[in-house]
Amino acid sequence: MFCSIEDFKTTFKKRLETKLSKSINDATNNDVYKTLGQLVRENVSKNWIDTTTYYQENKQKQVYYFSMEFLMGRLLQTNIENSGQFLIIKEGLKELGFNLENIFEEEHDAGLGNGGLGRLAACFLDSLASLNLPGHGCGIRYKYGLFEQKIINGYQVELPDYWLQESYVWEVRRPDRAVEVKFGGYVDMVEVDEKLQFHHKNYDTVLAVPYDVPVVGYQNETVNTLRLWSAESCREDFNFFTSNKNDYYHFLQYKRSIEDISGFLYPDDSTYDGKLLRLKQQYFLVSAGIQSIIKQFKAKYSADLLQLPEKIGVHINDTHPVLVIPELMRILLDEEGLSWEDAWRITKRTVSFTNHTTLSEALEKWPVTMVKELLPRIFMIVEEINERYCRELWDLYPYEWNKISALAIIGNGEIRMAHLAIVASYSVNGVAKIHTEILKTKEMKDFYKLYPQKFNNKTNGITHRRWLLNVNPDLASLITETIGNRWIAHPKELTNLIKYSKDTAFQEKVAQVKRMNKEKLARYIKEHNGITVDTNSIFDVQVKRLHAYKRQLLNIFHIIHLYHILSENPNIDITPRTFIFGGKAAPGYHFAKKIIKLINAVATVVNKDPRIQNKLKVVFLENYSVSLAEKIMPAADVSEQISTASKEASGTGNMKFMMNGAITLGTLDGANIEISECVGNDNIFLFGLKAEEVLKLYSEKTYRARDIYNIDFRIKKVLDELMGNHLPGGESEFKDIYYSILSNNDEYFVLKDFDSYCEAHELVDQTYRDQQKWLSMSITNIAHSGKFSSDRTIQQYATEIWGIRPRF
Ligand SMILES: *Cc1c(COP(=O)(O)O)cnc(C)c1O
Repeated sequence: MFCSIEDFKTTFKKRLETKLSKSINDATNNDVYKTLGQLVRENVSKNWIDTTTYYQENKQKQVYYFSMEFLMGRLLQTNIENSGQFLIIKEGLKELGFNLENIFEEEHDAGLGNGGLGRLAACFLDSLASLNLPGHGCGIRYKYGLFEQKIINGYQVELPDYWLQESYVWEVRRPDRAVEVKFGGYVDMVEVDEKLQFHHKNYDTVLAVPYDVPVVGYQNETVNTLRLWSAESCREDFNFFTSNKNDYYHFLQYKRSIEDISGFLYPDDSTYDGKLLRLKQQYFLVSAGIQSIIKQFKAKYSADLLQLPEKIGVHINDTHPVLVIPELMRILLDEEGLSWEDAWRITKRTVSFTNHTTLSEALEKWPVTMVKELLPRIFMIVEEINERYCRELWDLYPYEWNKISALAIIGNGEIRMAHLAIVASYSVNGVAKIHTEILKTKEMKDFYKLYPQKFNNKTNGITHRRWLLNVNPDLASLITETIGNRWIAHPKELTNLIKYSKDTAFQEKVAQVKRMNKEKLARYIKEHNGITVDTNSIFDVQVKRLHAYKRQLLNIFHIIHLYHILSENPNIDITPRTFIFGGKAAPGYHFAKKIIKLINAVATVVNKDPRIQNKLKVVFLENYSVSLAEKIMPAADVSEQISTASKEASGTGNMKFMMNGAITLGTLDGANIEISECVGNDNIFLFGLKAEEVLKLYSEKTYRARDIYNIDFRIKKVLDELMGNHLPGGESEFKDIYYSILSNNDEYFVLKDFDSYCEAHELVDQTYRDQQKWLSMSITNIAHSGKFSSDRTIQQYATEIWGIRPRF
C-alpha cells in the first residue's frame, strides 16, 4: 500500500523505469495504465494470500460460483476504490501530469459474458468479497470475449475481441495447479472383489491451466478469487507426435483443436445451439473446477469426503455448468471409491442451481449420442441417475407413463439439463418474485410438486459500488453530503433520501448532477456518432441485448409514430426527446439484426429532417458493453424496460438506471414489479399487458395482430412505412419485420401494447414539464434502489441457500 502521495510517486516512477524503461516524461496513458495496474495488483497480494489462508485454516465453508460467463468489464477503478487508495493515486498521478479518469479508459473490458447473466456473476463476486464472504468464481478464460460491434451503414458488423493481446494485468497464471480433463475414449468395466470398477481408456487429455484474478472487497482486507481456466495441450503429446516427423503438422492441428476449447465465448445468450465445442467447453469448466476443489478439500480440510457438503458449496449459474453433478459423482465413485448412495447424498447436498429463463427455446438439451461419444463415463452416470429417479417417480405415479417420461432427465434422445439440475441439487431459485412464481405454477410446476422445499426466490441485484459510487461520483458525494456515508456499507439506508424528495434545494443539486452527466454523454455521442443532442431534451434510453421479447421494436415503432405526428404538424408542443439505443444482436439472429438496421434507418431520416426542428433525435451507440453502460446510466432520464410481460426473468439494467435516478417506463415484468412496489405507482410509468393476460392470450389463441393493424390508423401508417421507400434500404429491407407482425401474428404483442405505450409516453412528456414533480420521482427512485444492491441478494444466498458466514 502507498502511505502517501510522495511514496506513490516515487514507487510509480521507479516501476515505470524498471519495467518499461521509460521516464515519466515519455510515458503514454497506456504505459501508466499497465504500470499502475501491476502496482495495484501487487498491493492486494498480501490480503489475497491472507484471505485464502484464513478460510483454509479456519476450515470455513466456501462457495464456488460456476458460470460460463463473467462479464467483468474494467477492474482498475474498482480495485483502486476498493483498496482505499483512490485519493492518493488520483492526486499522485495529477502531480505527475496524468488524469486518472483517462487512465481508466486504457483498460480493455474483460467481456467474458453476453449480458445480464454474466454481469450478475460479476456483481455477485464484488458483493461476496465486500461482505467478507468466502465465495469465489469459476469460469473460462476465453481467448476471445464477446465480439466487438461496429455499425457500418446501419448494419451490425462483428469483430473479434482479442482482449488478451496486451497481457491482462489482473491475472496470475498458476501452472502448478493445472489439472487434466479427459474427452472421448471408452469405459472398461472390471469386477474387483465383487465391486464394479470403471476404467476410462483411450481418451484425449486436455490440460486445464488456471489463471487467478483477485476479487477485492470494498475497503475490508478480503480478497477472493476468480479462477479462469485455459485449455492447453499436454507436453507428453508432443513427444508422442514428433516421433514421426510428418506428424508435426498433425500435432499443430491437434494443439489448435485443444486450445479452441477456451477459444471463444458463444455470442448467443439464449437459444439452443447444437455445437459440440460448446459441450466441450462446459465439461472442461466443470471438470477442471470440481477436480481442483476436491484436491484442495482433501489437502486442507479433510480426507473424509462425507464432510464435503458442510465445507463446500457449488452453485451453478443457469444450466450451462450442470455437468458438475455427474462430474462430482464420477470423482466420488471412480476416484474416491465411494458407494453410489454416499456419492449421491454428497452431491445432492453440495449443488445449488439458479434458473434464469422461462423461454422454452433457451432450456438446454443435449443429444444423447453426442454426450455418449464425448463423455462416455459421464453419460453412464447421468443414465443411472435418470434410472434411479424414474423408479422413484414410478413409486409415486405408478402407470403414469406420460407423466414420468415428461419429468425424466433423458427423453426423446436428449438430456434435459434443467431436469438434471433440479433433481440433483438442494436448492432451485428464480431471479425475481414473478419469475419464481411462474416457475412454481407453470414452467416447473410438476417439479415444484415433487420438491416444494427446493424452490425459492432470490431477486437479482447489482453492486451499488460500481453502479453508483464509481460511475456517478457527483451523485454519490451529493448523497453522502445529505445523509452521511452509511449508505455505502448499508445501501438500504438510501431510503433516508426520501425525506428530501420534495426539498427544492436538494432537487436542484440532483438536477445539476444529471445535467452535467448528460452533457458528458452528449459529448460522447457527438464524438462517436457525430450527432448533436439537446441536453435539455429527455434522454430516453433502451440499452440491452437485442431480442424480440425485449421489444426494441415497440420503442422504434413509437418513434416512427412520433415522427409522423411531427412531420405533419411541426409546431405541435412536445417535450424534446433524445432516444438512445445500444445493444448487440447474436451474429446468427437475423431478426434482431434487422431491428438494429431499422433503428439506424429511422435515425438517419429523423435526425436530418428540418421539419422536426431537433425535437427528436435517435442515437444508436455501438458496442454496448459494461464500460459503455457506465457512461450511459448516470445520464439517463427514462429507463425503457418494455419486455412482453412474463418474458424477462428479472432484468438488472432496470436497477442500474433506477439507482442513477432514471425513471422506469416499463411493463409489469421481472424486477420491474418489485421496483414499482418499492417506489409506488406514482413514481414509475407502467403500461401494457400483465403477465397473466399474456399467458391467457397464448393459451386461448385469440390474439389477431392484423385486426389491430386494420383498426388503428397510427399503427397501419407505422407498419406501412416498413414496406415503403422513405427509409434507407428500400422496400425489401424490413419486410421480415413487417411479416413477423402481420403474418406471424406478432408473437410478443407489440401491436397489442402499442396504444398503452403511447399513452405512457404522453404522460412522460407531461410530467417532465413539471421539473419538481420529475425530480421528486427521480429522488424517490434513488432512495429505494438500495434494495436492489447485490449485497442484499448475496446476503440472502449466503444465509438461505449456502450457509456461509463472513470472516469478520
Ligand atoms: C446490466 C447489463 C446487461 C443486462 O441488461 P438488461 O437490461 O437487464 O437486459 C447487459 N449488458 C450489459 C453490458 C450490462 O451492463
